[in-house]
Parts: sequence; C-alpha cells; structure tokens
Amino acid sequence: MAKSGFVRKRPESLATSYLLAVLSVAAAILAADVLTRLLNAEAIASSLLCAVIISAWIGGFGPSLLAIALALLAFHYYLAPPANSFVWKHGLSAMTVPGEIARLGLFALTTTVVAFLISAQRKATKDLQRSGDQLRVAVEDQKRTEAELRRSEAYLAEAQRLSRTSSWAWDVRRREFVYRSPEVYSLFGLDRETQVRPAQPLYDSIVPEDRNRVMDMEQQAVRDNKAFETDFRIGLPDGSIRYVHSVGHPLVGGDGEVTELVGTLVDVTEQQHANEKLRKAFGEIKKSEDRLRLVVDTIPALVWRATPDGIPDFLNQQALDYTGLSLDQAETGWPRAFHPEDKKGMLQKWSAIRASGTPGELEARLRRFDGEYRWFLFRAVPLRDETGNIVKWYGSSTDIEDRKRAEEELRRSESKLVEAQRVSRTGSFFWNVATGERVGSQEFFRILGFDEPHSVTFEMVLQRAHPEDRALVEGAFERATRDGKDLDYEHRLLMPDGSVKSVHVVAHAGKNHAGQLEYIGAVVDETATKEAEGKLQKAQTELARVSRVTTLGEMTASISHEVNQPLAAVVNAAGACSRWLNGSAPNLDEARRAVEWILKEGNRAAEVIRRIRGLAKNAKLQKEPLDINSIIDEVIALVQRELAAREVRWRLDLAPALPTVLADRVQLQQVIINLVMNGVEAMQPVPDRLHELVIRSSRDEARRVVVDVVDTGVGISADNAERLFNAFFTTKSGGMGMGLSICRSIVEAHGGRLSAANNAGPGASFRFSLPAHQEEAA
Ligand code: ADP
Repeated sequence: MAKSGFVRKRPESLATSYLLAVLSVAAAILAADVLTRLLNAEAIASSLLCAVIISAWIGGFGPSLLAIALALLAFHYYLAPPANSFVWKHGLSAMTVPGEIARLGLFALTTTVVAFLISAQRKATKDLQRSGDQLRVAVEDQKRTEAELRRSEAYLAEAQRLSRTSSWAWDVRRREFVYRSPEVYSLFGLDRETQVRPAQPLYDSIVPEDRNRVMDMEQQAVRDNKAFETDFRIGLPDGSIRYVHSVGHPLVGGDGEVTELVGTLVDVTEQQHANEKLRKAFGEIKKSEDRLRLVVDTIPALVWRATPDGIPDFLNQQALDYTGLSLDQAETGWPRAFHPEDKKGMLQKWSAIRASGTPGELEARLRRFDGEYRWFLFRAVPLRDETGNIVKWYGSSTDIEDRKRAEEELRRSESKLVEAQRVSRTGSFFWNVATGERVGSQEFFRILGFDEPHSVTFEMVLQRAHPEDRALVEGAFERATRDGKDLDYEHRLLMPDGSVKSVHVVAHAGKNHAGQLEYIGAVVDETATKEAEGKLQKAQTELARVSRVTTLGEMTASISHEVNQPLAAVVNAAGACSRWLNGSAPNLDEARRAVEWILKEGNRAAEVIRRIRGLAKNAKLQKEPLDINSIIDEVIALVQRELAAREVRWRLDLAPALPTVLADRVQLQQVIINLVMNGVEAMQPVPDRLHELVIRSSRDEARRVVVDVVDTGVGISADNAERLFNAFFTTKSGGMGMGLSICRSIVEAHGGRLSAANNAGPGASFRFSLPAHQEEAA
C-alpha cells in the first residue's frame, strides 16, 4: 500500500534530528552563558537538560544520546577552572574535584533517564498516531470497496437484465433459495412480493414435458457433485412459452457433502425463435436450391458455368447426359466435344465474348455421347461482383439442329424457287400499301432490268412501264390503293436498251393482322410467249388457209373425178348422136337414144354437184345454246393479230342481253371468220381510206339474232351481186370461190339466212340471221 510511507522515517529527517540535537545543546550553552553573566545564576544544568529533552522529543532516543554526550562535554568545560564560565580555558585536564565528577555523573544519569522516558513517550504517541492513520485508510478502503462492489453489483444486475440472465443459489440442506436475482422472478413471470416463498423451487412453471428431466438433473448434481447444463421451457401465465438455458454448479461444504447449488438461467426465447426462423430459412433455401437444381437439371437446355478464363466448372445434368462427359472430363476436355470444323471458330468467338465482358452468343456443333453432332446456340452472360470484376460466366446451350435443318431446307427451297422463277420468268413481289413496304424476288428485279434491287424505288419501277402503258399501270396502282381489289393486267416495259417486254401482272389483295392492305403477286415476263403466240397465230392462219385450200383441192379432185365420168359419157353420147344424124341415112332412133343418154349423164353430173353441196349442208352438227356475242369475242381473239398486221381498225358493237342461238360453235366461228377475212381482203386494194371493220350484233324485226360484218372495202359490183354465193365464184387470183357458198350452206343448215349488200358509204355488209333459241323454247 502506498500508505505505508506514511510511518516510515525518512533519512533526511533523521539527519535533521541529530543536527537539531547539536543545535539545541549549542543553544543551551549560549543560554546558560547569558544567564550566568546577566543574573549570576548558575543555569547550566537546567539549560542542557532542556536541550536533551527537546532532542529526545523531536529526534527520539538516538539524537537525545548525542545531545547528552555534547551536554556532558559542555558541562565538563563549564566546570573546569576558571569554573562556572565558558571563557577560553587552557589545560582542560581530567576532573580533579570529586564533587564535579559527581555532578557530571548525576547529570548524565538524569538526562539519560529523561531522554529515555521522553523517547518512549514520543514513540508511543507516534505509534498511536500511525495506527490511527492506518485505521482511517482502512476505513476509506473499505468504503471504496463497498462502493465498487455496489457498482459492480449494479453492473451485474444490468448485465443480467440485458442478457436475460438470472442467478440463484439453493441451499440443499435447508431446501430453499438463499439467493435469487430479481430476473428470476421476471423470467418465471412471478410477482416477487406475493407469489414466491424462498422454499418454492419454481418447478411448477416448467412445462410438464421438461419438468422431470430438470429435477432429475439437479438431484443428480447434488448426489454426484456434478455440474449440469440443460435447456427447458417455462409456461407463462399468458400461455406463451419461454426457452431457458440453465447452468448449475454444486458447492461442497466442510464435510465433503454438496451444500449448495448455484447457477444461472438465461432467457434464450428470442435466440430460440431466431434459431427456428434460421432453421426454417435454411430449410427454405435448401428447398429452393433443390428446386432450382431440379429446374436447372430438367430444362431442355444445356446449362453451364465457367470460370472467368472460360473453363467450365459446372454442367447441369442435361449437359452431362448429352455430352456423356463427367464434370472432371469437361473441365479440360470440353473443346473436344465440338465439331472439328467448328472448334477453332468457337474458341475464337468464346474468347472474344470473354474479352468484351458483355453477353454474347455463338453457334457450333456439339458431339452427343453417341458421336452424333447437333447444332447448338451458346449464350453466355457474365456475373460480376460488387466491384465489377467478372467472377463467373453463366451460359445455356440450346439445340437448334431442327432450326438449322429448316433453315437449310428453306435455303434449298428458296434457291429452287429462284430457279423456278427464273425458268418460268415469273418474279414475285410483296407490297404493303399502308406502310409502303415492298419486297421483290430476284427474278422480279431481273425482269424489270435492275441489277441492284436495294436501290430500286417505286418510282423507278413505274418508269420502266412503256410510255404508252404508263397511264394504265399508274391507274392500276391507284385503283389498288383505293379499292383493295385483286390486280390483273398486262402491259409493256421499255427497257434501257430500247427493247420492249410484255409482262402480265397478277396480285392478290389481302389484309395482314394489323388490318393493312397488302398485295402478294407475280410479274410474268410474257415477251417470249407473246412472240411465240404471234408466230403460232400466223402459222395457224397459214394452216387454216392451207387446209382450206387443201380441202377445196381434195374436193375439186373428187368433184372432177365424179363429174368427169358423166361429162365423158355426155361427150361420147353427143359424138355418137352427131354421127347418127350426120350419116347418109340419119338414124333418128339411135340419135334419140344418144340424146337420152346425154340427159341421163347430165343429170348424174348435176346430182354429183348437189351431193357435194349437201356434204356441207348435212354434215353432222353439234348444236348447243350459244351466246353470239361470246362467239364474236372468240373470233376477234383469233383474228386480232391478223387485223393488226393488216392495219385494220376494228370495233365491236354488241347488243346486250341477246337470246342464245342453237348452233355448232366451230361452224359459226368459221362463218364469222370467213366474213371477217373477206372484209379484210376487200379493204386491201383501197389504199387511201381508213380500213375499219365493225362487227355488230342485234335483233331484227322478226326477233332473230342478227350479225353484221361491215367493211370499208371495194364493195360489190352489180354484176357480181347475184353470183357471190355461187360455188367457185371468185374475183381473187388465188381465190377458190367456195367461202361464201359454204357459209351460206352452214347458216341455212342452222335455219338462218346469209345475205350481202353495199353500204350507204364505202364498203359492203354481210349479214346473217339465226332463230333465237330461248324464244323457240318459249
Ligand atoms: P373467195 O374469197 O375465195 O374469192 P368467196 O366465196 O369467199 O371466195 O367470195 C367470192 C367472191 O365474193 C370474192 O371473190 C369477192 O369478189 C366477193 N366478195 C366476197 N366478200 C366480199 C366483200 N366483203 N366485198 C366485196 N366483194 C366480196
């Protein structure tokens, strides 16, 4: 203790005490000397005694001895002759006077006794003082300790309150609590004042399921002198449950028996709840992890994870099953699972994706466990930590084999389509009227003569139309935009090299899902077809002409043959007749027989001619109800080119809603073609007039269906008017003169009539009329 220095004599104070002894003797000498001189009194003994007393009181016994020794010397000097003074004395020799020796001895004895007594007194006083001080210190220490104890008790109480810990001590022999901290009561939900007696062991509050176990454990602790630690539950009056952690220690008395149990109780309810929640949360996490794994393992994709340097460190079950690799094999051997042709490109792309640090994808063929390669789409996404460093790459690989095949199939069929379009000279196009989006096939642009489809505008397409047809094309597009009807028209294109193409445009109008008008259509290059058609037409006309000639030639031959025999017979008979009449004696009987022969043969020839005409007349007809206007349309279609080639303008003037006629289609066509071609030929010799041909249909006063073929040709001379319809009448150098004759036969075979007349103006008109079929039926 620092307080021990309080009683220890310090070295300097010791020296001071001895010095004080010397000084007090010196002062006594001085005082004795003064007193002797002034008062003539002998004060030496009492002065020196005072000095010794002072030294003893202040310095203690040691300094007082010094003072006594000095005082004896001073006394001795004082007594030496000249006696009773302190003047300078020579020959300070030993005591000679016995009385002086006695005084000195007595003085010494007195002072020693006094010094001893005073020192003893002084020491006792000092000791008393010191023990008083020590007592005070001890009391203060005690007070401080008590305060600290109180404080630490308060801390402990506070700590117990905060940590929900309470402590207790149970006296085993007295069977009661000797100590219970206040928290025990609040822990057990009891009122401290009223509800709890020291002896009550509080077991009642423990839930029945835990109670016996706690009691057993405590009894065992007492029996076996063993610490215990357990958890139990307390049922609170409000029905709630409190979880308590209990720790107990036995205390052993002098007899070696356990006398007390001390322990702590900690309220771990919140911990317990938190633990339960944590357990539940862990359970949930585990469950959701399991679920996630299930999802990852069962989704129809290969899922993988790779380290930042691209090495896979996880593959889902699908990926393992597909590749047949184990995860260990995959870590090093994964590039080998790729198709040899794809491996290099894949590795390059994969490192490019990693270098970019952004999600990316690539396509490559991946080997299946059985060695088959299938196309996969690989997608990779980086996972970053909070500082932005990539910690993993996550990826999925989807089987796109079917898509790839479909793409390939599409490419193949597309190229087939392109080929088909090229061969058929058909270009397809798509046009969204609302958005203006237009797409054309390769052939479409080829037909239009554009090499760079991307730079082609709608305007440029329009410009390709032949100047004479442009209005038609623009009109068609305008109508399409307005009416949304299907398109079907033909027009010509004027190509940059000056050549002309004929195209046929067909497009179907429809609405897309947004209700917008769209056209899907085709442009067919018909130039070659048209040319071929022209040639065909020409050939057909030629053929018709030839066959007409051939038929007539054949007919002529057969007519000649048939007619030749009766004519030869007629000539023979006429010769014979002439001979019978010219003889010297005319034989009239023979001549008459010859004439009868001539008559017979002549009639036979007439019969032949009649039969030939009857051929046409009685030919087997295939009659059906026909619309005469559509027959005229068909004829026009057949002769159109011929008309154009001969620079004949033609016009139709057809009456609507005519009744049908019952007729043979081909024969009616033949009649009209013949009349038309005659008209065309009649106009050829007239150079300075407009060549115009009109075909008109109508009904006459007798309600018959009438067709007029009107030309602006040479007309019919009065001489020929009667003979036109005769067989073999022709005014043309290469003519046969059979056309009109056959036409009339045909018309008459249909119950009609054919006639000719000159026009009021130039040219002639040929008219035929047929009975109306519908009205006949009526
Ligand atoms: P072809 O045409 O072979 O001469 P057709 O019997 O058809 O034989 O015609 C007989 C003749 O009638 C013609 O040669 C021609 O003189 C005359 N003819 C026919 N049609 C017309 C016509 N539209 N205008 C003037 N004369 C015509």
